[in-house]
Formats: sequence, C-alpha cells, structure tokens
Amino acid sequence: MKIAVSSCLLGEKIRFDGGHKQDHFVTDELVRFAEFIPFCPEHLAFGTPRPSIRLVRQERQLYVQSNKDSTDLTSALIQTSHHELARISDEPLCGIIFKSKSPSCGMGSAKVYLDNGFCEGKEDGIFAAMCKERFPLLPMEEEGRLQDAWLRENFIMQLFAFDAYEQFKASAPTLGELVRFHTLHKFLLQAKDEQLYRELGNIVANHTNLSIDIQLALYEFGFKTAISRKSSIKKTRNVLEHLAGFFKNNLTKDEKKILHSHISDFADKIIPLIVPLSTIALYAQKYNIRYLLEQTFLNPYPKTLALRSHIDAGK
Ligand code: SF4
Repeated sequence: MKIAVSSCLLGEKIRFDGGHKQDHFVTDELVRFAEFIPFCPEHLAFGTPRPSIRLVRQERQLYVQSNKDSTDLTSALIQTSHHELARISDEPLCGIIFKSKSPSCGMGSAKVYLDNGFCEGKEDGIFAAMCKERFPLLPMEEEGRLQDAWLRENFIMQLFAFDAYEQFKASAPTLGELVRFHTLHKFLLQAKDEQLYRELGNIVANHTNLSIDIQLALYEFGFKTAISRKSSIKKTRNVLEHLAGFFKNNLTKDEKKILHSHISDFADKIIPLIVPLSTIALYAQKYNIRYLLEQTFLNPYPKTLALRSHIDAGK
C-alpha cells in the first residue's frame, strides 16, 4: 500500500528552519504496512532553510507571503504544489498524511491572516486543497488529528478498506465476486453508514441489469464514500449486538450475559472495543461460524496496530 506523506513527518530535515516533525506512529508503526511517497512543495520552491510563510486573504483572494518581508510567493508555491501533485498522482495511492497547521500541507488547520495581521480563521493549505480537489475519495488526514485515537482508528480502517477495494478492482472481478466482496464488508460498512450499506446492497443485487462495469463504478463510489464516514459507539454497538445474535442458539444463559455485559461496558466506555470483539471472535471460532470469521469488521487492519485497545478509540 502506498501512502503520500509530508516529508517532514518522515523525519526529513526539510522544514523552513531545517528541522523535522517526525511522527513516530507513521515512521515506526505504519511503515510496516505501507510504502511512503514523500512530498514537500515548499522545499521545492524555496529550498531549506527558508523564511517561514503565511496565508493572507486580500479582497477574497488567498495569497502566500513571506513572514520576513511580506514578499508575494503565491505563484512559486502553486507551481511546485502542482509539480508535487503530478508526481504523487503517478503512484497508486491509498491515502495521504499531511503535516497539520502548515500553509502548504495543513488540512483545515492552516491559519489565514488579514492584511492587518489578525487571524481570520483556518483552512486548507495550498497543497492540501489541491489534493482534496484532485482525489475527492482518497483517505486523507493530517498528523495533528491522528493523535486522536478515534480519528486514527477510523483513518487506518479507511486506508486498509480502500486498499482492499483497489486490489479487488485490479482483479477484474465478476458479479459473483462483487457479491462476495460486499458480503465480507457487511459489518464494516454498517458500522460506518447503514444507509449506504443498503444502497450498496441494491447495486450488488442489480435489479436493473446494469453491465458489470457500471455496477463496479457505482459500487466503488458508494463504498469509498461509506468508508470515509466515521463510526460511532452507537453504530458499533448495533453491529456488535447483531454479531452476538449469531450465537443465540449456541451460548448458555451465563455466556450470553457475559457477552452482552462486554458490549454494554464498551458502549459505556469502560472497556475498549477489542474486548467484546475478542469474545465474539472466540465464539465464532468455537462454533465455526465462517460467515463471521471472514468479516473484515473483525480484522480491518493488522492487529499489531492495536488501535482498538484504547477506550478513547470510540466516540
Ligand atoms: S509541512 Fe509540508 S511544506 Fe512544510 S516542511 Fe512539511 S512537507 Fe514541507
């Protein structure tokens, strides 16, 4: 899986002051499962070290100015941003991770100033805005937001689901294989967006006899939109209750009580999601319920990332 990442997050000494902003989750954890494509539009435009820059709004137009002497640097940064965008577009990307707060890379966190020096708010940096326009369905986050366990879990789940779809698409699937793909992702999709899950089911059912190419195009749009939605404790709880229903004829009264108390404790933020999920996986193994064991919701990404072991991973 290839992920484009702001170079400074990878530890490259490429910031305006010659420093870096290494993100250890990216460089120590995610690196085991992804190949990184670094980018830095500012280094390309101005070299390193360089004067810091800011975004300035004048008569509704956004400009890039040097903090040192207010020189207008807009066209130089736009030019190198286009260059970096073209370069990363050549790669089969599954996502982008941006450095937060940067006038180039910030995703909704770049400060915008008025002529009088006051900050009028925050928005996308120049390069991040271009990426969002170019790749509307690609998973993207900035490192600042990824410090939040819930956003991190959602983003990593989205990345791996996106990669799974890309691999599935590359296999030139048949209608039967599309049905199977949808079935495997049933509970993951429900934990994201129940309505979209149902709409995707209608696409797969193909009541209007569309060609497989049209079906796949419609499915891809719906699937990638659904996985971009954030899960919540309420949605996840519904899925867990649904999963628990598969054992209703197998478990003893006490076993059912334990499983449901795990689900309630998760919903009350007393225990992390991994606890009820492990119990469900255990029973699925014990009673050999293959339908559940194959669900991507149980293992949406490598378990060593351990993102469901934090109570704060649910909201
Ligand atoms: S935030 Fe973006 S532009 Fe700034 S140093 Fe990092 S990669 Fe380069």
